[in-house]
Amino acid sequence: MASNGYRNGTGTNKGAIKPPASSNIRSSSFKSRLPPSSNHSPGSALRRTSSASFTTAAGGDGVPGRVRVAVRLRPRNAEESTADADFADCVELQPELKRLKLRKNNWESETYEFDEVLTEFASQKRVYEVVAKPVVESVLDGYNGTVMAYGQTGTGKTFTLGRLGEEDTSARGIMVRSMEEILVNVSRETDSISVSYLQLYMETIQDLLDPANDNISIVEDPRTGDVSLPGATHVEIKDEQSFLELLRLGEAHRIAANTKLNTESSRSHAILMVHVKRSVLGEEVAIPTESDKSSHFVKPPKPLVRKSKLVLVDLAGSERVQKSGSEGHMLEEAKSINLSLSALGKCINALAENSAHVPIRDSKLTRLLRDSFGGTARTSLIVTIGPSPRHRGETASTILFGQRAMKVENMLRIKEEFDYKSLARRLEIQLDKLIAENERQQKAFDDEVERINLEAQNRVSEVERNFTDALEKERLKCQMEYMESVKKLEEKMIENQQKHQHDGFMKDKCNGEGPGFCEDIAVIKKLLEKETHMRKEAEKEVNKLKSQLGQHMDAGAGGDAEILKLQIALEDEVHQKKKLEEEIIILRSQMLQLTFEADQMRRCLARGGSGNAYPGLDSPMSQVRDSLSGHKTPVSALFDQVGVEKILDLLESEDANVRIHAVKVVANLAAEEANQERIVEAGGLTSLLMLLRSYEDETVRRVAAGAIANLAMNEANQELIMVQGGISLLSTTASDAEDPQTLRMVAGAIANLCGNDKLQATLRSEGGIKALLGMVRCRHPDVLSQVARGIANFAKCESRASTNGNGLHIALVLLQVYEAGDHFLSMKVHFHGLCKMLTMMLHLLGDTLSSHCVIWHSMKQMQRT
Ligand code: ADP
Ligand code: MG
Repeated sequence: MASNGYRNGTGTNKGAIKPPASSNIRSSSFKSRLPPSSNHSPGSALRRTSSASFTTAAGGDGVPGRVRVAVRLRPRNAEESTADADFADCVELQPELKRLKLRKNNWESETYEFDEVLTEFASQKRVYEVVAKPVVESVLDGYNGTVMAYGQTGTGKTFTLGRLGEEDTSARGIMVRSMEEILVNVSRETDSISVSYLQLYMETIQDLLDPANDNISIVEDPRTGDVSLPGATHVEIKDEQSFLELLRLGEAHRIAANTKLNTESSRSHAILMVHVKRSVLGEEVAIPTESDKSSHFVKPPKPLVRKSKLVLVDLAGSERVQKSGSEGHMLEEAKSINLSLSALGKCINALAENSAHVPIRDSKLTRLLRDSFGGTARTSLIVTIGPSPRHRGETASTILFGQRAMKVENMLRIKEEFDYKSLARRLEIQLDKLIAENERQQKAFDDEVERINLEAQNRVSEVERNFTDALEKERLKCQMEYMESVKKLEEKMIENQQKHQHDGFMKDKCNGEGPGFCEDIAVIKKLLEKETHMRKEAEKEVNKLKSQLGQHMDAGAGGDAEILKLQIALEDEVHQKKKLEEEIIILRSQMLQLTFEADQMRRCLARGGSGNAYPGLDSPMSQVRDSLSGHKTPVSALFDQVGVEKILDLLESEDANVRIHAVKVVANLAAEEANQERIVEAGGLTSLLMLLRSYEDETVRRVAAGAIANLAMNEANQELIMVQGGISLLSTTASDAEDPQTLRMVAGAIANLCGNDKLQATLRSEGGIKALLGMVRCRHPDVLSQVARGIANFAKCESRASTNGNGLHIALVLLQVYEAGDHFLSMKVHFHGLCKMLTMMLHLLGDTLSSHCVIWHSMKQMQRT
C-alpha cells in the first residue's frame, strides 16, 4: 500500500512525524514553489506572470504547485459529548506545528503533517482564508481552481463548504465567501460569472438548478482536455443575493431529489461550478498603416478573455467506501457511490506515486475533476474529521487520503483565449468612432469650403461694386463736365444770337464778315452734334460695360481677365473723354473767337469806326478803357476757364480749322494787357512767331501778326520779339504779303517796336524800318496809318538819341519821311495820321530850318490834295 510509506516504521509510541521526508520538504518549501500569489498581492503578481508566460491554455509551461491539504476537526456534538465523555479524542492537533496526532491506542500515536491544521475552534472565516482564498484568487487570475471537502458523513463537509450563514454571518461557508470575493474583484461591465450546481449520484449528473435535467453528460475537448457540461444550466450571477437564492434553490432541489430517490445527501457529491470570464488586454502595438506613412493606428490591445473555473465539491461521505452495503443499501447503489469516490482515491494514489497510469476515466467524478488533481488547476482539499474515538478508523482513512493528496503535484496553467467576439466589438466601436470622426471632419471641410467660397464671392462682388462705383463716378463726372460745357456754349451761342438780333448793323456787317461767321456757327453746330453723338456712344459703351459686369458676376474664376477687359474699356473711355475735352476746348475757343468778334463789331459800330477786329491796333485808349472798366471781357472769362496752355496747344493742332480758331483766340487774348504776360510765359510769343515762319494760310498769318502786334505793345515783349528774330520774320511777311489787313498788322507790330529806344539800331540794321516803309506800297489807309505811326515813333527815339536835336540820323529819317510823305500825298494818305506825324516831328525836331523846310513842303503837298 502506498500509505505504508508514510508510516513510521519504528513503531515507537512516541509520536514521530509520519509523513515521508519528501512531504516535509515539500511542506516547508510549498510556499516558495507556489506562484507569487501565496506571498504578496497574489492577484497582481499572477496577472503579470500570466500575461507574460501563459497566453494560451495549450502553450507554455505551467507553474508547478502541489495540492494543498488542510485538516479540520469538528467539535464534539452533543451526542459525542455524552457518549465519549470518558474517552479522549482520537486526534490531537498541533496547529502551530501544522501537525495532527492520531491516537492508535492509549500508548501509541501517529503524527501527520498537513498544510493547515484547523482545530475545532477554527472560525469559518479562517477556514476560508487558509483553504479557499488562495484558490479563489488564483481563479480570478485565470487559473482553474478546486476546493474539495472529503470526510466521513457528519464531520462538517457541508458545514465547511455550503453553510449560507443567513442567521449568522460568521457561519458563512466557503461557497458564499468565494462568491463574495469573486464578485468584489470582477468588473460588472467586462466580466461575467455564471454558476452551475450539480449533483453526482450513482454516476449520474443531475442539474440542481433544473431537476428535470437529470442526466448531464461530460464533454471533453480532445485538444485542450477541457471538461465541460454543456447540458448544465448556467446562471449568471450579478450579486451575492442572487447567488444565495441559487444555492437555496439547489439545496431544495437536492433534498427533493434525494427524497425521491430515497437516499441521503451524504451519498451524493454536490458540485458547484463557478465560471469566471474576464476580459484582459494585451499590449498595444503600433502597426503600419496601408500607406505606411504614419503610425497613427495602433493595433488595439489584443482582446483576450480569460476563462477560469472554480469547482467546489462537497464529496459524498468517505465512510461509504468501506461500509457501503453494510448499512442496508442496495449493492448496486453502493457500488455506484463507491465507484466515483474510490476512483478518486485510486487516481490520487496513482498521482502520488507518479504512476504512469492514472485511472481518470473510471468514474464521472474523476473525469469531472481531471483538472483538479494532477491537472492544471490549483487545488485545495479540506479533510474533515470528527473527534470521536469510535470513528477512529474512518478518521485514520480520511487522514491518509489527505496525506496522499498532499503528494499530488499539479501544473498550473492559465487559460486565455483570443476573444474574437470582443475584438469584433472593439473594432466595431473603433470603426464607429472613426466614421463619426470622418463625418465630423467632412462637415468641417465642407464648412470651410463654403466659407472660402463665400469670402471669395464677397471679395469679387466688392471689387465689382468698387469698379462699378468708380465707373459710374467717372461717367457722371464726364457727363457733368460735358453738360456744363455744352450749357456754357449754348449760353454763349444764345448771347451771341441775341446780340446779332439786337444790332441791326450786325446783319449788314455780316455781309462783309458774315459768311465766315455763319460758317463758324454751322461748324460749331456740327461739332456739337458730333459731340452729342459721341456722348451717346460713350453712354452706350458704359451700358455695355455694365452688362458685361453683370455677366461677370457669374464668372468667378475669370474675374481677373474680365476686370482687365473692363480696365481697357475704362482706358478707352478716359481716352474718349480726353478727346471730348479737347473738342470742348476747341469749341470754347471757337466760341471765344465768335464772342470776341461780335463784341468787337459791337464796339466798332458804337464808335462808328472801321470794325477793327484787333483792338490792340486801335487806339490804345480803348484798351485802357476796357481794362479800367474792371469787367472781365467774355474772352478773358473763357480764357480763364480753358487755360492758356490748352489754347496754345491747339495752335499746333493737326486740324487747320482748329489752328485758325486758336490763333484768333490767342490774338484776341493778346489784345488785353492783363493776358499778355501769361501768354508770353506759356510760350505764346514763340508759337506765334512759328506760325509766321511756317506760312501756310493768309488768315493764320494775319491773325498771328495781329497777335504779335498786340504783344509788341509791351516793352518787355518788344525785346523778346527782337531776340527771337521777330523783326526779320515781320520784315519777310511785310515784303511777301499782299493782304492789306496782314500788312496792317505787320506794320502795327513794327510800329510798336519802333517806340523802343533800345531797339533803334537793330531795327535799322535788320531792315525793320525798310520793311515798314516798304509797306507803303499797299496804299491802304490803315496800313499807311500804321507806317506813319511807326515812323513817328522811330523819329521820336532818334531825336532823343541825338544831343543837339539834329544830326545825320534825323536828317536821314526826315529824308525817308519826306519820301514817304510824298508817297502819302500821292496816294492820298490818311490826312489825320499824316498831320499827327508832322506835328509830332515838329515838336520833336525843334525849330530848325531844315525841319521847317520839310514840314512846310509837306504841308504844301498836303494842301494840294
Ligand atoms: P457532513 O456534511 O460531513 O455530513 P455536516 O456538515 O452535515 O457533515 O455536519 C454534521 C453536523 O455537525 C451538523 O449539525 C453541523 O452543524 C455540525 N458541525 C460540523 N462541523 C462543525 C463545526 N466545525 N462546528 C460546529 N458544528 C459543526
Ligand atoms: Mg454533508
